[in-house]
Amino acid sequence: MSEQKERVLIIGSGPAGYTAGIYASRANLNPLIYEGNQPGGQLTQTTEIENFPGYPQGIQGPEMMAQLREQAERFGARIVSRVITAVDFSERPFKCTDENDNVILADSVIIATGASAKYLGLPDEEKYMGMGVSACATCDGFFYRKKNVAVVGGGDTACEEALYLAGLARKVYLIVRKDYLRASEVMQKRVRETENITILFNCNTLGLFGEDGVEGAKIVENKGTDREQIFDIDIDGFFLAIGHHPNTEIFRGQIDMDAEGYIIPQAPSTKTNVEGVFAAGDCADPTYRQAISAAGTGCRAALDAERFLMEH
Ligand code: NDP
Repeated sequence: MSEQKERVLIIGSGPAGYTAGIYASRANLNPLIYEGNQPGGQLTQTTEIENFPGYPQGIQGPEMMAQLREQAERFGARIVSRVITAVDFSERPFKCTDENDNVILADSVIIATGASAKYLGLPDEEKYMGMGVSACATCDGFFYRKKNVAVVGGGDTACEEALYLAGLARKVYLIVRKDYLRASEVMQKRVRETENITILFNCNTLGLFGEDGVEGAKIVENKGTDREQIFDIDIDGFFLAIGHHPNTEIFRGQIDMDAEGYIIPQAPSTKTNVEGVFAAGDCADPTYRQAISAAGTGCRAALDAERFLMEH
């Protein structure tokens, strides 16, 4: 347990946190980054990133995040591999406490805590967690080589996961609750052109079954209509790709957020309702949620923090 004084504390280490770190360190603010329990954030769980400017051939997510981290460190950002578990924004300096009860007294805070995968809320998801249920194909896909798997969702993440798994598994079911995919055209096309992906439109998962792990899923098609039918699919892996929720629980009651928990910044700045606290990246972005837009707000948050510190 210790107490330390900081000018800028950055909570989170995705593209937003690291970019804020690069800008704040280049402004001589000597930022401290708490990188949390998923250093590098969600992109460390993706495969190839093709749409981040500057990488014409694409780049692997973990590699890009390692480079961003290195870039932040190069200018003096200090990075701690721990989690901030409580904050008190009622007065300055802001009191932020980590998992080891160390206290950081920060003149300014940049929240860049990102978002985490959502689950359907089925009891079976918990029952088979780590035994066939996963929200990260790139982390766990390897275990399903030459097996059958299902991915739930119809967005870009689901398509990306399905394509990744199609390269490993024998067969991939994409379980989509509507009669269309929400993913971008390019991703939809790739999915449709991949032979071992079967799209189950208008389908929802009722439950999972299996002795020592997932062996199948019970699916309902056209639920609530006269064409409703229930059937089983044989799968060994069940992957969720139905979106994310913001990691903002510890700020609840202190920072203004919407009903889903996304921080509401005072656009066009990254200021929150608490003077000296700024928000960047997916934790404050229910709309775009891209690596590049997160990096952009990380830059803006660092500039906003710099201006705030100059004025105070
Ligand atoms: P999205 O919110 O775009 O898609 C979520 C999907 O999950 C939708 O198809 C949704 O269905 C479905 N879904 C949500 N809840 C349930 C449920 N309870 N049961 C069944 N299905 C459900 O999230 P993504 O994570 O796919 O993407 C988030 C953002 O990140 C997007 O802007 C996306 O473009 C971007 N992204 C970009 C990538 C890239 O460019 N390479 C890669 C990955 C993400 P419905 O349509 O019915 O609501």
